Amino acid sequence: MAKRIQFSATGGPEVLQYVDFTPVEPAVDEVQVENKAIGINFIDTYVRSGLYAPATFPSGLGTEAAGIVRKVGAGVSAVKPGDRVVYAQSALGAYSEIHNVPLEKLAILPDNLSFEQGAASFLKGLTVHYLLRQTYEIKPGEIFLFHAAAGGVGLIACQWAKALGAKLIGSVGSDEKAELAKRAGAWATINYHKEDIAQRVAELTNGEKVSVVYDSVGKSTWQDSLNSLKRRGLMVSFGNASGPVIGVDLALLNQKGSLYVTRPSLYGYITNRQELQSASNELFSLLGSGAIKIEVKEEQKFALADAQKAHQVLESRKTSGSSLLIPGL
Ligand code: NDP
Repeated sequence: MAKRIQFSATGGPEVLQYVDFTPVEPAVDEVQVENKAIGINFIDTYVRSGLYAPATFPSGLGTEAAGIVRKVGAGVSAVKPGDRVVYAQSALGAYSEIHNVPLEKLAILPDNLSFEQGAASFLKGLTVHYLLRQTYEIKPGEIFLFHAAAGGVGLIACQWAKALGAKLIGSVGSDEKAELAKRAGAWATINYHKEDIAQRVAELTNGEKVSVVYDSVGKSTWQDSLNSLKRRGLMVSFGNASGPVIGVDLALLNQKGSLYVTRPSLYGYITNRQELQSASNELFSLLGSGAIKIEVKEEQKFALADAQKAHQVLESRKTSGSSLLIPGL
């Protein structure tokens, strides 16, 4: 027997249950991983609340973790029991002591990264990789806007932007978070509770505004994001922390300067093992060189049994950087 988090109806954090289950043998292309650190992602709250409801109940939750290979399926030769690995996938169930994962969703965890660093940086780092390197290729010296810059994805984005020689303007919800984003490499910050985002972007760019905005906040920043873009700029809407953007009048894009909008997902960029390897090699190289540092605050490491509390804290906007569930904590 092992422990996992499951839920049988969507709702608040209270729907999450810590239960016993019997792990099944890995399928032919799967790897059975004993999770040592599990990444908490804001997307987990969308799944739990019903914004992205699971297809069947009871359902597991969570999409990334780092741990040790226990068993492999008959068709797997690229990893073996005892290997240290990290994985990210859209299928749910990583909030668990033991989890079976398709080989193509998993990478060998470099020796210089702890399980905690791996689980705190893999899904979020791969996300920053596709956003800054593929959805729109950020160039050295380029000024751009990135919302929620002190969050898990955000602090990695600040550091990655600095490594690229680019100038990230980070929006944040408090002065303390502004300081954290600055320390991580943000060129400038905007506290969106105090300042007008589009006005500040215009000031910071001498009226030019930016070619790309990365917006994971959604509903509450949508208009400001569009207003921060220069003519034919690109709006990258990649999350809904404040609620989804719905009912968009496309004429708005014309009125605001022939803008482009995309709504990407990590799993549209990581579709096979080759794409995963290529993106994770770039991420691991920046982590290995120290260009990107991952530190998880002690108060943001939760026991697996405390997933309810972890979700409450994440949704209350009290966290900065990544948060983890640690089996056995
Ligand atoms: P974060 O650690 O960034 O937490 C979310 C942050 O959003 C909060 O800390 C808060 O920062 C900000 N926020 C703004 N408005 C609200 C609100 N009304 N309620 C709660 N938080 C709010 O989470 P992650 O790093 O896990 O993810 C960041 C975003 O990226 C999420 O929206 C997620 O869905 C998205 N994402 C998208 C992916 C994709 O491929 N499309 C992949 C991975 C993540 P502050 O206090 O500074 O406002």
